[in-house]
Amino acid sequence: MIDRDVIIAGAGPAGVATAVALAARLGPGRVLCLDKARFPRDKPCGGGLTGHAHAALAALGLKVRVPRVPCETGRIVYRSRRQDVVLERPVDIVRRREFDADLVEQARARGVEIAAGEGMAAFHVDAAAGQVSVQTTRGRGLTARVLVGADGAGSKVRKAVAADDHRRPPLRLFQAEVDMPPGLAGEVAGRMIYDFSLMARGLRGYLWLFPAPGGRLNVGAMHTTDNGIPAPIKKSGAEIEALLREGLAAYGVTLPNGARGWPAWRFRSGARMAAPHLVCVGDAAGIDALTGEGIAVGLEHGPIAADAVARALESGDFRFVDYGPAVARAVVGRELALDARLAAMLYGPRSASLWLSLILFDRRVQKLYAARVSGSEVLADRGGALLGALLRHAVAAPARLARLRAA
Ligand SMILES: Cc1cc2nc3c(=O)[nH]c(=O)nc-3n(C[C@H](O)[C@H](O)[C@H](O)COP(=O)(O)OP(=O)(O)OC[C@H]3O[C@@H](n4cnc5c(N)ncnc54)[C@H](O)[C@@H]3O)c2cc1C
Repeated sequence: MIDRDVIIAGAGPAGVATAVALAARLGPGRVLCLDKARFPRDKPCGGGLTGHAHAALAALGLKVRVPRVPCETGRIVYRSRRQDVVLERPVDIVRRREFDADLVEQARARGVEIAAGEGMAAFHVDAAAGQVSVQTTRGRGLTARVLVGADGAGSKVRKAVAADDHRRPPLRLFQAEVDMPPGLAGEVAGRMIYDFSLMARGLRGYLWLFPAPGGRLNVGAMHTTDNGIPAPIKKSGAEIEALLREGLAAYGVTLPNGARGWPAWRFRSGARMAAPHLVCVGDAAGIDALTGEGIAVGLEHGPIAADAVARALESGDFRFVDYGPAVARAVVGRELALDARLAAMLYGPRSASLWLSLILFDRRVQKLYAARVSGSEVLADRGGALLGALLRHAVAAPARLARLRAA
């Protein structure tokens, strides 16, 4: 006798999306979502809800009901170079503490059972018995047919499913919410700033400044590491924090002491996302390697996981061999795979300036990317446009690199 058909570990965006989609399909009493935290809980994040996030929420019947700051413009910065790109649809900046708690509330209102403050302490798959047993941090022992790992970047489920991948060096993300310096309020009004200047100092990523609800400022940095990158680009947390401080100082922003960094493992095409009776979703399956973003990814990924789980329950086949290919075929999987390739180019050891100069000086690429952020374009489907950009760059690169050096 099993307790539930499905246990979901984690009630962040990916866990809630999976739970809502599954509950709609299976009906009441068959899905239990555990989260070690009580809501509202903090979650380090830039908090940007893109067009994809809005579309995914709408498809699940969920709404954004918390304070948000709409941003109609993205600004790309490299030293003295500033390029504004207008978005067809604003990106809404939310505070994750509020956003996630409200998603949990909306899911509960729709009958999803969420046990907050009760984490998954351990699990064990018994393939012969066709079940997985879960020990909770409150001492409950539960059984289910499927365990969904929506337990974020440090996922226990991912460590079991994709142990090798989890040993690869993670991305490093730093974030803090600070008071808005008076001189900056106008510059970030309705505008997200993505500053790549620190790439000249060895950062393989960018620094962001987003206007946050309540007149505050959300700042952070992402740095990419991976096995292919030689030692000088691998930076310690202290080095990344020092670079973030330096970058923010240029905007008159002081990073509070005790700013923390978090690891996140990037999405890799072909990496395992499932094993018998186990399915990973959201950050547990891998974060976007180019941007370090994952709210929309988790919301889009959840229903794919839910579909795989529902079909396994119908068929009795819990191997989940089709799950990875289903993600790879979906828009979210194709975009993640493309971004993994773009990240390897932009944040690679040798060619960073070459690709950065394309991003900074090719207006058509900027508009295409803005359309993706707005949710009206799937970049992975625009192979012709991307090839065109590469051909233009083959001609324009020397001049663009000179402009980059002069910036
Ligand atoms: C500094 C930083 C900045 C970021 N900025 C952005 C951004 O601007 N835009 C964007 O789209 N993305 C951003 N991201 C990424 C984004 O935060 C994640 O991709 C997103 O939260 C993933 O959702 P998730 O549901 O998979 O995981 P999470 O949101 O991490 O949720 C996982 C949940 O699992 C719970 N949990 C963990 N372990 C257990 C356990 N053992 N048992 C039960 N529950 C457990 C946690 O309490 C948590 O509630 C950022 C990430 C970081 C670190």
